Amino acid sequence: MTDSTADIDGIDLAAADAAAKKHAHEMNKLSKRLHRQVGQAIADFNMIEDGDKIMVCVSGGKDSYSLLDILINLRDRAPIKFDIVAVNLDQKQPGFPEDVLPAYLKSRGVDFHIEEQDTYSIVKRLVPEGKTTCSLCSRLRRGILYRVAGELGATKIALGHHRDDIVTTLMLNMFFGSRMKGMPPKLVSDDGRNVVIRPLAYVKESDLERWAEHRAFPIIPCNLCGSQPNLQRATVKAMLQDWDRRFPGRVDNMFTAMGNIVTSHMMDRNLFPFETIQATGAPVADGDIAFDEDEQCGTPAPATGVVNFVRPGQVPAPVDDAGEAYSASED
Ligand code: SF4
Repeated sequence: MTDSTADIDGIDLAAADAAAKKHAHEMNKLSKRLHRQVGQAIADFNMIEDGDKIMVCVSGGKDSYSLLDILINLRDRAPIKFDIVAVNLDQKQPGFPEDVLPAYLKSRGVDFHIEEQDTYSIVKRLVPEGKTTCSLCSRLRRGILYRVAGELGATKIALGHHRDDIVTTLMLNMFFGSRMKGMPPKLVSDDGRNVVIRPLAYVKESDLERWAEHRAFPIIPCNLCGSQPNLQRATVKAMLQDWDRRFPGRVDNMFTAMGNIVTSHMMDRNLFPFETIQATGAPVADGDIAFDEDEQCGTPAPATGVVNFVRPGQVPAPVDDAGEAYSASED
């Protein structure tokens, strides 16, 4: 005879039941968030239109599996009709488990194509030992995928880059390329023939990690080529993760900022006609309140030395443990 809190072989059934319910609730919330964010990105950038055939590039990593999974679900309930074809490029890397993706894709009942091209041998032959192989490898892969898209009659190519990839790319381009250039949610390919979309643009990487685990995708390791990881990207990614841990919301704000660019307050003379601006006598929304409001003359800085910008009449922003204002309220 057992009661509801009894143990069986040392397992607390009530606690296990509560944990299972909590997990199911969290996964339900995660699922709703992921589908909402992907749907929102698709709508905001008009990524998918009626009659489109979307070629979803699937590498076997958590991001592309999640992308395909979510797009299949959205297709089945979308008010428009679009088709999906999943494409994997088998680059003939040693140890690539070539049965894994076809088995998974068949189980999902989605159209798919596996393109076999031995780019691995080409890269090994052309790139001197010790040099990074990724740049040539990516170029080859890109060209092949563009060709395959044409052969399959795809109207768009969907890639699994997410919010953190986009912010990391912006930082990398600023730090090492002296350019404010990110990774757009939608663009025309460099050969001019394809439209590339990134429906995961609004999605956090950590959410994709949890989703991949929850959905038990058969992940294929990404180090089969033996290439060294990109140290600059890894460093910037670690920096952003550290910021986000210490100042929650910071990466979100950086991402949002990429869609809120005030060209008159940057320095690109191709984007704003600095040479010809004239005072008109009329107020300008977004014009500077001259002489640097950020200085906040007379407003003492907190003891930490971090200024919390507050305009007259404005409610001060919440301040985190380190005394730093959340940037949503900063100008
Ligand atoms: S990590 Fe390997 S497979 Fe990926 S781009 Fe670099 S060389 Fe190619």
